[in-house]
Amino acid sequence: MSAVHNKARTSSNPERAHTGTPIHEKVLKTLAELGVRSVGDIQQLFYELSQTLNDETNSLVIKGAQSEAERERMCKTFRNRWLGRKSGLIAQADENWLKAAGTDWRRDVGRFFNDLRALVEGKIAALPTEIRLHVGVGSAFADTSSPDLTLPGFRRTLGSVHPVTQVMREIEDIFLGLGFAIESGPEIESVYYNFDALNIPESHPARDDWDTIYVNPETLLRTHTSPVQIRAMEKHGAPLYIICPGKAYRHDNPDSTHATMFHQVEGLAVDTDITFADLKGTLDYFARKFFGDKIKTNFSPSFFPFTEPSGELAISCVFCGGKGCRVCKESGWVEVMGCGMVHPEVLRHGGIDPERYSGWAFGLGVERFAMMKYDINDIQLFQQSDIRFLEQF
Ligand SMILES: [Zn+2]
Repeated sequence: MSAVHNKARTSSNPERAHTGTPIHEKVLKTLAELGVRSVGDIQQLFYELSQTLNDETNSLVIKGAQSEAERERMCKTFRNRWLGRKSGLIAQADENWLKAAGTDWRRDVGRFFNDLRALVEGKIAALPTEIRLHVGVGSAFADTSSPDLTLPGFRRTLGSVHPVTQVMREIEDIFLGLGFAIESGPEIESVYYNFDALNIPESHPARDDWDTIYVNPETLLRTHTSPVQIRAMEKHGAPLYIICPGKAYRHDNPDSTHATMFHQVEGLAVDTDITFADLKGTLDYFARKFFGDKIKTNFSPSFFPFTEPSGELAISCVFCGGKGCRVCKESGWVEVMGCGMVHPEVLRHGGIDPERYSGWAFGLGVERFAMMKYDINDIQLFQQSDIRFLEQF
């Protein structure tokens, strides 16, 4: 009724703004009837249409649907209102604005019209996923626009313990069972604790064995967990039975067996009458506990500045059982850690009398143990945070 009335009035007396007329009535009139005089006026009309489009989709999204069927109905009604073949707002804008536009306006109207139609199609396509279902909620509740706080929340997948941490804990458990305590120390360490106190003076060629990352001339990122030995001896004195798990840093080029940051477990036993037999017995027990009863151990001489005598512990290859394979380079043996009797100088630096006490120590790489245990051939995998790798543990 009012449309007819307006049409009669405006055709005889064109008004520019038509401020009071709703947009669904404006699309029933031609641009001439609406009194359009500039491109700006046309733009304003299309802007009003797009605002209406936004308002209507927003109110549907806020309202939500109580069932799949209701959501389908809502989407269908909305689609008909905008894209209905005859009475849809787009069809009417096409009929009354675009087709009826004179040659002066046709290009501009066409441009705005195409933009709007694309917008409408986008909204219609997105609507089914944007209108949320109020599943299992009473109608009285669903009528409100507030969220339902009784619905269960989203559960995030729980991760698992990193393989390096798993192996470190396994090693810790074995030594805790033997009466050892866990000690820790700083990763940013002084040159004194990292080298000097461990019998590696500046002139000592062994210092070149560690590609050290220095913070300044007196401070570095510890190249091994051994400085904790000195700190623990200073703190607790003798007798002392500790392991020190933790991170160490070296300026190595990353490859399949080297990483700039890696983990070590250091072990130290200091007491009266400690001999190499104690070292052998303890490490033999540890190796069987960790790798299984079937493995054999073998000690061979080696050199470290902080132990005297020094040795390497090798175990019979866990992959071939000692027959020889690619992992053990056909030798049947794999070296797993360095060890030895604590050098008297080191005990002295820790404030312990080497005439009264003796001790043994070892150091092992946790990543290397994890690689042997799980047959992993690249140390880099531990630090790449690749979920496909990590979820296997
Ligand atoms: Zn082998």
